[in-house]
Amino acid sequence: MIRKLLRRVFTKSAAKPQAEAAVIPLELHGIRREMVSPAARKVCNVLQEAGFKAYVVGGAVRDLIARIDPKDFDVATSATPEEVRHLFRRSRIIGRRFRIVHVMSGAETIEVTTFRAAHDDDTETDEHGRVLRDNVWGNMEEDAARRDFTVNALYYDPSNETVIDYHHGVADLKQKTMRVIGEPRARYREDPVRMLRAVRLAAKLDLILDPAASKPIREMAELLANVPAARLFDEMLKLLSSGHAVVSLKRLRDEGLHHGLLPLLDVILEQPQGEKFVWLALENTDNRVRSGKPVSPGFLFATLLWNEVLSNWNARKANRQHSQPALFEAMDEVLASQAEKLAITRRIAGDITEIWALQPRFEKRAGKAPFRLIEQPRFRAGYDFLRLRAEAGEIEMELPDWWDEFASASTEEREAMLVPDKKGDGPARKRRRPRRKPGSGAASAPAGE
Ligand code: ATP
Ligand code: MG
Repeated sequence: MIRKLLRRVFTKSAAKPQAEAAVIPLELHGIRREMVSPAARKVCNVLQEAGFKAYVVGGAVRDLIARIDPKDFDVATSATPEEVRHLFRRSRIIGRRFRIVHVMSGAETIEVTTFRAAHDDDTETDEHGRVLRDNVWGNMEEDAARRDFTVNALYYDPSNETVIDYHHGVADLKQKTMRVIGEPRARYREDPVRMLRAVRLAAKLDLILDPAASKPIREMAELLANVPAARLFDEMLKLLSSGHAVVSLKRLRDEGLHHGLLPLLDVILEQPQGEKFVWLALENTDNRVRSGKPVSPGFLFATLLWNEVLSNWNARKANRQHSQPALFEAMDEVLASQAEKLAITRRIAGDITEIWALQPRFEKRAGKAPFRLIEQPRFRAGYDFLRLRAEAGEIEMELPDWWDEFASASTEEREAMLVPDKKGDGPARKRRRPRRKPGSGAASAPAGE
């Protein structure tokens, strides 16, 4: 037993020679402790007072050095999840694949992770080498070695304002290079999502992907097919709402990472007729993110998939199907084709269909219809979508302009603006419905009727 243990310790340390960590002072990295969120500082402080090691780690340190506002702050510690849980009343342990603790402080939530060991032969993987569970605690050096990129393996200590750097991450960041820690092929095999992260983070930080990191991507891209759909969806959502979606997607295409893997990416990057609309939508999203406005995933995916819906819908109408049912069948088919690889959540799928279903309703500018549409809770999203379609040249700009005016007009002005239905507006011309008594309350139909 002891021999086995000794052999394991010996082989482990022989395989990984002790790395000397650089301790980088404030003058070189520039992170003053006030730049770290109060909650993250407090979490480090409480853990350190209790005798544990604790550092702000990962993306936040990287972003602060690159002078980008961090999205959130993570803390890495020598304390186990249970020990962390006991120190903070408002905290809870979450996750299975990676057990972590969420510590709530004020309005913030800090993700606290225990230092993890590097993988060894006992690590549970699937048949392609993808790591399934990763809950073996280790020391700080091992924790640094299992992170993905050198720029992500930086530890900031708020108590003395130093950065601990095992893998020359600060130098790489300053030299604008993104390098994988360890052997890139092995690291991509353990977790293929790292290939997507490489592209996304390089785009966000304006770094060049080191050739050793970029070369294997093309040939290993197919391993992404093996990643659970929900995880891919999260990663794509991060990429698309990063504020750098346009650059990220162009880089994905350059790295050969899009083809045949994610139907969504095929759709985005390989549709000649819809290209303009998609890039316009992505640019629009990037601008919103950069000016601090929220982006809704539903709106985003609705734009990305619209051209699919449009061609499916047109084909059905050409087949003499009625416009409205044709649209709903087209929507279902397009969403289903994405579902297999990309687990679009039900809620988001609901938002997407609402936005699509509103589109034909914008064409009805007679009678009560426009008054009903404008009362829809999703009117704004539907209208923004309509305007994008016009900007891309799919429809006349006159239509969103009309709605713009209609929305800000008085009731009398609105009445005067109504445009009678054109004759022969598609095959689905309605029969006259019997008049309802006024005030019977059956007026507004929900989106997606
Ligand atoms: P973002 O700016 O999108 O938050 P991030 O690098 O902070 O980027 P997170 O998912 O928040 O990404 O991860 C936090 C840290 O955990 C990373 O900086 C990295 O050190 C580590 N990490 C995350 N994902 C992986 C992975 N797939 N493999 C290895 N380490 C990872
Ligand atoms: Mg992060």
